[in-house]
Amino acid sequence: MGMSSIAGSNHCKVIIIGSGPAGLTAALYCGRANLNPLIFEGSQPGGQLTITTEVENYPGFEHGIQGPELMDVMRKQAYRFGAKSVFRNIVKVDFTVRPYKLTDEEGQVYFAESVIVSTGASAKWLGLESEKFIWVTVFPPALLATDSFSKE
Ligand SMILES: Cc1cc2nc3c(=O)[nH]c(=O)nc-3n(C[C@H](O)[C@H](O)[C@H](O)COP(=O)(O)OP(=O)(O)OC[C@H]3O[C@@H](n4cnc5c(N)ncnc54)[C@H](O)[C@@H]3O)c2cc1C
Repeated sequence: MGMSSIAGSNHCKVIIIGSGPAGLTAALYCGRANLNPLIFEGSQPGGQLTITTEVENYPGFEHGIQGPELMDVMRKQAYRFGAKSVFRNIVKVDFTVRPYKLTDEEGQVYFAESVIVSTGASAKWLGLESEKFIWVTVFPPALLATDSFSKE
């Protein structure tokens, strides 16, 4: 996981909180600098672009690319340089101690020399009929039926 054991704890050079375009770009750069970044992907792995279809304004994709595919490729590119993911939320960060102390949603504690916060945002939905295509076309009906996603 890009970690070594210091006094029995999980210690990283860099922890990145968030796995949208910002987090995965940071992971790519840190990975290329041999910092073995650990990415906490949170509850929306790949970030907001995973809930859209065509992304037409991303440089390098002349004919556009599907949001989930773009994020998948971004993650693989970061992994190529040693980045690793943990699919959990960080619920607490203590910036008053060095190395910084982070706690994930399962109570696991990590230490990091540097922390990159790239927790992005979540879309504010207006409740329009026309927005519903996203929930129908991107999310599997089974997930919708179990109400696994919140529309915040
Ligand atoms: C439907 C839709 C369509 C869009 N289409 C386009 C488009 O075509 N072109 C375009 O340029 N932009 C588009 N956007 C905007 C684009 O998605 C955002 O600008 C972009 O995703 C922001 O990237 P980010 O990395 O800053 O954060 P986000 O993508 O918001 O990712 C945030 C990340 O932080 C994680 N996170 C949050 N809290 C925690 C925590 N406590 N612990 C661990 N992880 C955490 C989340 O799980 C997520 O991985 C669209 C957005 C939406 C909603």
